[in-house]
Amino acid sequence: MKNFELPPLPFAQDALAPHISAQTLAFHYGKHHQAYVDNLNKLRVNTPFEESGLEEIIRKADGALYNNAAQVWNHTFYWNCLSPQGGGQPSGALAEAIDRAFGSFDQFKAQFSAAAAGLFGAGWVWLVCDSKDRLAILPTPNAGNPIREHKEPLLVIDVWEHAYYLDYQNKRPDYIAHFFELVDWKAVESRF
Ligand code: MN
Repeated sequence: MKNFELPPLPFAQDALAPHISAQTLAFHYGKHHQAYVDNLNKLRVNTPFEESGLEEIIRKADGALYNNAAQVWNHTFYWNCLSPQGGGQPSGALAEAIDRAFGSFDQFKAQFSAAAAGLFGAGWVWLVCDSKDRLAILPTPNAGNPIREHKEPLLVIDVWEHAYYLDYQNKRPDYIAHFFELVDWKAVESRF
């Protein structure tokens, strides 16, 4: 059995400031994400998932094992949605699909932001597509993951308080606005 490892951040810990501080990343990546990896490695011992990949655990496991596996996957995906050179708008086929699904990029941004601000408690808000390339906004509480629902994740925002509390305290909408200054649309386009 090979342990899962914390993947390296795709940017320096201070590279997302001022939108997300180095202090937030030190805790969010260095402590929270690491803890999910460590818990996953402990929890899968003596289960049918000892040789399973992360996505198989997410599709089939339940309870704490599912929660920690999904949190490992979700955080890695979240880091790979962000870039110090991010922001702006998507282009090409993704931009057209967003216009078809939501009317315009601005309407998508408003709906995604409202879903992120409105998710009660902890969780994630995703932009997903189905097998016919139709887009949707999918809020998932706690450790929810679209793979479980047979949807393809394109973009995610983490709205657990640990994602923003050091920088924005209770002002989740401020964090959401700053998140959009970091979205790596080229990476999102490449998933579509
Ligand atoms: Mn998080």
